[in-house]
Amino acid sequence: MDLTFSPRRRAFRAEVRAWLAEHVPAAPLPSMDTAEGFERHRAWERELADARLAAVSWPREYGGRGADLIDWLIFEEEYWASGAPGRVSQNGIFLLAPTLMAYGTPEQKARHLPRMVRADDVWAQAWSEPEAGSDLAALRATAAPDPSGDGGWRLNGQKTWSSRAAYADWCFGLFRTDPDSERHRGLTYFMLPLDSEGVTVRPIAQLDGEHGFAEIFFDDVRVPPDGVLGGIGQGWKVAMATTSSERGLTLRSPGRFMATADRLLDLARGSADPSLRDAAVQAWTDSEAYRLHTFRAAARLAEGVELGADSSLMKVFWSELDLRMHELALDLLGPGAPVAGPWLDGYLFALAGPIYAGTNEIQRNIIAERVLGLPR
Ligand SMILES: Cc1cc2nc3c(=O)[nH]c(=O)nc-3n(C[C@H](O)[C@H](O)[C@H](O)COP(=O)(O)OP(=O)(O)OC[C@H]3O[C@@H](n4cnc5c(N)ncnc54)[C@H](O)[C@@H]3O)c2cc1C
Repeated sequence: MDLTFSPRRRAFRAEVRAWLAEHVPAAPLPSMDTAEGFERHRAWERELADARLAAVSWPREYGGRGADLIDWLIFEEEYWASGAPGRVSQNGIFLLAPTLMAYGTPEQKARHLPRMVRADDVWAQAWSEPEAGSDLAALRATAAPDPSGDGGWRLNGQKTWSSRAAYADWCFGLFRTDPDSERHRGLTYFMLPLDSEGVTVRPIAQLDGEHGFAEIFFDDVRVPPDGVLGGIGQGWKVAMATTSSERGLTLRSPGRFMATADRLLDLARGSADPSLRDAAVQAWTDSEAYRLHTFRAAARLAEGVELGADSSLMKVFWSELDLRMHELALDLLGPGAPVAGPWLDGYLFALAGPIYAGTNEIQRNIIAERVLGLPR
């Protein structure tokens, strides 16, 4: 594989780098898990959208640049290296949008994508329930035909751990439309505004007191027919398209980990402990390995090869690497370091990496069965 970037790609990288150097806020924005921080991040998303940088891989008609995956990876490297803010729109842009492009009607795409890219609508993912996390097919939230007979639906039930739902505008989620169905069958994928009548959003306070998650209660919530994505009873198939984006390339690009690894090396340079310096070099090498693996995966995708269970391997790798790097940073900072700070925030979030997007135990089950062919 030829890893030299063409002059066109290098020019794209230079353009992104120059734009970010000019626009990234000098001071970090307040946390997006606060009301004020959420709106500041929304405003940042609009700035990105104005420069057609919010979703470079989307088609131009929806606000993107029609860039291929390699350009998107380049964008991500520059983005995270510049210290730009976290992406409050990531559930929409990186998870729902690829699914919407694959399964949405032309009207659904035209309605949702332009508002999503400008963060006019920020989306939350409403999948997990109190009794359905790893075993998502155990979900109990229901959707029944609206008694008016106009093709709409009535939603009931509870979702939980919905990231950013405390302040988001819309959600996408799975509901059981066939009451006689079991497990993966009879589910339907819905999209609806969080200010719909009958929706109650109850924020969940995290360890740090911020509202990073919410529970969402649905009490006979009406959803019109065009709130269904991908057809009645097709929910599992449609949802699997989202999880593949979530675990694989699009949620966690290597640029994010390379940026952390570079900062870790800077930190390790000042350390007198050779074992910590060695560990930092190892972490940087692992990040580079993930980066090269991702470029290979992007090349294979471009050739039409599906990622399949490979996305599970990637998810385990990036989540464990991220945690290792943050643990090491705290070791390097030592017990005398100030308690608050970006490394500690990053560490707390890295702890969640092996849980969200499907726990690593579940990913290992998938790898064992589908990659290694081991018995269930
Ligand atoms: C930061 C973060 C953000 C999240 N954001 C969202 C969101 O936006 N929307 C949303 O819907 N959900 C979200 N979640 C929820 C997440 O999807 C679930 O936490 C996850 O799927 C695990 O489900 P659970 O918490 O119910 O744990 P459980 O499924 O109860 O699992 C408990 C433990 O048992 C293990 N386990 C379970 N089944 C098996 C098995 N078959 N084999 C081996 N081990 C097993 C698990 O690995 C885990 O260690 C988020 C979670 C986190 C941490």
